[in-house]
Amino acid sequence: MSAYIPYGRQDISDADIQAVSDVLRSDYLTQGPAVPAFEKAVADYCGATYAVAANSATSVLHIACLALNVGSGDWVWTSPNTFVASANCALYCGARVDFVDIDPRTYNMSVDALHQKLEQADKQNRLPKVIILVHFAGQSCEMREIKALSNRYGFKIIEDASHAIGGKYRGEPIGSCRYSDITVFSFHPVKIITTGEGGMALTNNERLAKRMQLLRSHGITRDVDEMTHTPDGSWYYQQIDLGFNYRMTDLQAALGLSQMQRLDEFVAKRHTIAKRYDQLLAELPVITPWQHADSYSALHLYVIRLKLKEIDCTHRQVFEEMRAAGIGVNLHYIPVHRQPYYEAQGFKAGYCPEAERYYAEAISLPMYPGLTEAQQDKVSEALQRFTTK
Ligand SMILES: *Cc1c(COP(=O)(O)O)cnc(C)c1O
Repeated sequence: MSAYIPYGRQDISDADIQAVSDVLRSDYLTQGPAVPAFEKAVADYCGATYAVAANSATSVLHIACLALNVGSGDWVWTSPNTFVASANCALYCGARVDFVDIDPRTYNMSVDALHQKLEQADKQNRLPKVIILVHFAGQSCEMREIKALSNRYGFKIIEDASHAIGGKYRGEPIGSCRYSDITVFSFHPVKIITTGEGGMALTNNERLAKRMQLLRSHGITRDVDEMTHTPDGSWYYQQIDLGFNYRMTDLQAALGLSQMQRLDEFVAKRHTIAKRYDQLLAELPVITPWQHADSYSALHLYVIRLKLKEIDCTHRQVFEEMRAAGIGVNLHYIPVHRQPYYEAQGFKAGYCPEAERYYAEAISLPMYPGLTEAQQDKVSEALQRFTTK
């Protein structure tokens, strides 16, 4: 094992390797039985009716927006504290994106800021069609409150739960879609479980599930009920929409299905690591992650904020010193509205002050199930060295 400690990494067992090699020896590398089996396992785990697997969460976000009829003239709102994919999906559909500032404790979209922005947008007749909520670091947004706002203002809800499979909100699995139309998971190797690349949509709405199934595979159907006329023969299929090749392979799905067996174990291990960090860092000039009482986080990330007034060096210096010491710290996230592509659409510094303040202080520490106590000690000792000189 290299001395370098990454911020996140996959955990692959012999059983995972066996599951993938079984597919390699089988008849189907793609469009076989592993994808529906993986979909069923995730749907059952979450308590949702339908699951649609795809080749990435980015693809799923795209077809989720299309299934909700996002198009030109529509507004989609999201959090600035996310990966760019949460906003880009709306632009793919020709819609416009706006950002709602974050809560200073959870770093999720602020319910107060959302409420105020909705009141204003209502007066200006530019209410959003869809709001994409990001469960940052694996901690659920305040879904009950946001669902109440959706009932009042008429927007649809996509949960970008890329960080959050295995987490809970008010005792129920994230992905149940009790408070949303669609929930999206990512299976990138740094996330909670992995398929190499991959994503999945969960929904309780049959129409949305069917539309996403169609869009992930060219808009082609083999279902006679969906065709405009009876099939020309047994070879026949129809393209009835404009879709993509966003399919997940059976190799990926077999890995995902095998990883599902250890999902709860992975999240429990992340909690053990987080508790230990909380203790190790208690006396340092940093703010450790705050947990909402309604939430059981999947703890994808462990983000600290530097109390810069109590530290002699800059945020950047601490970050670079940690990297130089072989600790793969990271920064989640550069506020999306500060990306040049979004600034070109008119967003300026100061648009989401809470997210920008957060960005100036945040550091993601290494967090993954295989992180050892010795590695954690190394992280906390380095952080102590660089923040208290
Ligand atoms: C990782 C991530 C994505 C994109 O996931 P991919 O599977 O890599 O496409 C989208 N949103 C958030 C919040 C993410 O962390």
